Amino acid sequence: MDLHVTPLAEIAPKVAAARAAYDSGRTRPRAWRKATLQRMLSVIDSHEQRLLDALAADFGKHPHEAWLTEVAFVKAEIDFALAHLGEWMAPKRVRTPLSAKPSASYLVPEPVGVVCVIAPWNYPVQLLLAPIVAAVAAGNAVVAKPSELAPHASAAVSRLIDDLDEQAITVVEGGVAETTELLAQRFDHIFYTGNARVARIVARAAAEHLTPTTLELGGKSPAVVSRNANIAVTARRIAWGKFLNAGQTCIAPDYVLVEEPVHDQLVAALAATVKEFYGDDPQASSDFTRIVNSNHFHRLEKLLDSGKVAFGGVTDADTRYISPTVLTDVSADDPVMAEEIFGPILPVLKVKSVKEAVDFVAARSTGGDVPLALYSFSDKDAENDMVVAGTSSGGVCVNGTLWHIVNPNLPFGGVGESGSGAYHGRFGFDTFTHQRAVHTRSTRLDPALAYPPYTAKKQKVVRKALTMADPRDRLAKLRNRFRRV
Ligand code: NAD
Repeated sequence: MDLHVTPLAEIAPKVAAARAAYDSGRTRPRAWRKATLQRMLSVIDSHEQRLLDALAADFGKHPHEAWLTEVAFVKAEIDFALAHLGEWMAPKRVRTPLSAKPSASYLVPEPVGVVCVIAPWNYPVQLLLAPIVAAVAAGNAVVAKPSELAPHASAAVSRLIDDLDEQAITVVEGGVAETTELLAQRFDHIFYTGNARVARIVARAAAEHLTPTTLELGGKSPAVVSRNANIAVTARRIAWGKFLNAGQTCIAPDYVLVEEPVHDQLVAALAATVKEFYGDDPQASSDFTRIVNSNHFHRLEKLLDSGKVAFGGVTDADTRYISPTVLTDVSADDPVMAEEIFGPILPVLKVKSVKEAVDFVAARSTGGDVPLALYSFSDKDAENDMVVAGTSSGGVCVNGTLWHIVNPNLPFGGVGESGSGAYHGRFGFDTFTHQRAVHTRSTRLDPALAYPPYTAKKQKVVRKALTMADPRDRLAKLRNRFRRV
């Protein structure tokens, strides 16, 4: 299918129309936000089949997997936003120090304005629509850009967006040229999901207008497996997280660090799990996704030369098929360990101890390569605690993979090379919201203490008043002494 491309000359007018819609004030009221989110729910329902067909056409996603990871996920985000919208939008009164009284202080959430959402191809529906949900909940106008690498999904999700609010939520389709033109426009926030190389292009373009960014990137997310892990369950959970969407998931476990005594048992359990999930021949299974394009297929095929193929390693260039594969005897210097794999290839590396695994991950993070996700498998809490305390990552899931991003009460985002900023649930609303500081003073009292002339007496009183601790701060200080952290 040929990619539908927005003519370059139409891009600036689209952004201007979104700006006009925002400036008219119509996206700010709760009524618009609620109605638009509700409309999104019904439009997703009416476009569902088209979306699922597009995802099957782009990379053979099974309709159930597509529904679960792309459609159901976004609908859950909308339901959550609708349930909490009033609470999120309400101004919040905050304490005022004694020295600034009599007065009252508030945090007043305001939309940031016109936001640009740029999405990648791997979950082309969810990763475009979920940030739009947050931006709409926060009362913004949106210009959305789907990925050109999933052309069917780009067309399907764009037609869905066309049905939302023609001016306030608009879409630009195309590739590098169109995104470059889009990034030349001024936005109030840019939300980019994709690789770190393009993130640098986005950040440079944003700097031109001093526009804040959220960068949702990727990297190598490790799974640490202890000798005290339940190996059968661990293998199933790692295989599910890795082979879903054929490993083309930003938070897929990228590689495994397993304690030596359970290495062989884990590899055997992974092989048994793959058989259980996809049968003797995964190529014949409709549940297993294909690689998105031949560039990525050939890039992945080369990685099969690292270490030894324990199982899998079957490829078919015509259908861009790479079987679920586990590599053993891999060294930290092998090509498969150099970059994010982003495919169904799982290197399993032996470590002598969980501590060695922690040091391995921490050493890579020192250079900025902080993982987006980290997985720790052990039935001993102390071991999982040690993994979490000794490393950093965007998020962590203990004894599981991927599940942490399903909870809207947890932020989803990276650190360092895996990104900056976060969304999901309230965190998405906050990303697209400016918390305005509002301080209201009474005119009944107007002590002259702060005003010139600065007499000796005034100076004495002001110094004393400003150094006097608020009783509530004194109490907080006392409580802190007994806190365990
Ligand atoms: P991609 O190639 O689809 O690119 C993403 C977007 O960037 C597209 O809309 C594309 O048009 C635009 N783009 C590409 N080149 C550009 C350029 N030169 N100038 C301006 N814009 C340009 O997707 P990708 O980058 O291959 O996505 C995969 C990466 O994204 C992986 O690293 C993955 O881990 C990461 N990812 C992160 C998340 C997350 O939520 N943190 C989710 C999914 C994927």
